Amino acid sequence: MILALEYHRSPGRFIAARSLTATKLGGRMSGMIAGNVSPLRLINRQAPELPGEGWTRVTPRLSGICGSDLGLLTGRSSPYLSPMTSMPFVPGHEVVGETQDDLPGMPKGTRVVMDPVLSCVARGTPECRWCASGHQSRCDHITTGRISAGLQTGSCADTGGGWSRQFVAHASQLHAVPDELPDERAVLAEPLACAVHSVRRVKVAPGSTAVIIGAGTVGLLTLLALRELTEVGAVYVVAKHGHQQEKAKALGATAVIEPRKAIRALRRVTAARMHTPEIGGDFLLGGVDVAFECTGGSSGLDTSLRLVRAGGTVVVSGMPNGGVDLTPLWYRELELVGAYCSGADGADFADAIRLAGTAPLDGYVGTTYPLARWREAINHAADAGRLGTVKVAFDPAR
Ligand SMILES: [Zn+2]
Ligand SMILES: [Zn+2]
Repeated sequence: MILALEYHRSPGRFIAARSLTATKLGGRMSGMIAGNVSPLRLINRQAPELPGEGWTRVTPRLSGICGSDLGLLTGRSSPYLSPMTSMPFVPGHEVVGETQDDLPGMPKGTRVVMDPVLSCVARGTPECRWCASGHQSRCDHITTGRISAGLQTGSCADTGGGWSRQFVAHASQLHAVPDELPDERAVLAEPLACAVHSVRRVKVAPGSTAVIIGAGTVGLLTLLALRELTEVGAVYVVAKHGHQQEKAKALGATAVIEPRKAIRALRRVTAARMHTPEIGGDFLLGGVDVAFECTGGSSGLDTSLRLVRAGGTVVVSGMPNGGVDLTPLWYRELELVGAYCSGADGADFADAIRLAGTAPLDGYVGTTYPLARWREAINHAADAGRLGTVKVAFDPAR
């Protein structure tokens, strides 16, 4: 038996969580996530079994809490994803852990990070066109094969997940980490691989201007990837909190901007014209070449579409929720690009592990919690920006 945080969905709870977090009445929104309507519970359960050859048990050393996890817990994530999950599951896909079984070329006891996508190789199905071409995050077989439906470890009933004392992973998901890379940095490898991938989803022309909307984990790591892997010119970061603004400057932001001043500030630096519609936010004619939406909110996406020049690109890096007015997309002939997990046949992860070792990321994993203090951990993660934290993680062995 192992200790685990299990997610159970019932439509009633889902709607209750959604309406409570939407009203924001009777306390801060975050208080609701871990309250009575939370779909999480801490239980002792059977450790997941190895599904077959090429799998190992993994004991997590640290497991991050992702914005997509918070979206799930508040009922803000889209029901679109529900066929790609199987219940009950254990969340947790940002993991540094230790393998417990020997794999070819990876003896048991290896410290690893994990690409959470449960694609064809792990599922034992013939490779789909995406897996065959190194784009495992686009896998078409995510609901079939020898394990239950689940787009990732952390949404599949059979594998377990990082918010527990043990789960199972396929060799193809695992990357050994160098001894000198501390756990507090290694646990950032998964979100960093996603940031590397999102930057590679667009052609960032040398000297072009970019804006990053949001300076939580996704926004800051996207800034790092942009500076390290492209020849981007000016990068403006829209950041709400003082510590986020400081971190963005340390990672090479040209300027940091408060959200309510974003459109005006970008009008100035890009010499654009600003217009005010009868209803809705201001927008620019002119503007930046590319915007990265890193908040996972519809207002971040709406702002991105209003800041980008004609023919420019908006990259959706945060898991979206809610609809937006697509008129700028049509009128300005914008490109809207999705970026999900990592790709490039593992190259994104290799770059992420390298950058996790060299970039100024000290203090990014602010606080770690034992599983037993999960309510505090979730509340902290939901309010991380205001509390001066970038990433909150579980330390499941504690
Ligand atoms: Zn994530
Ligand atoms: Zn596939």
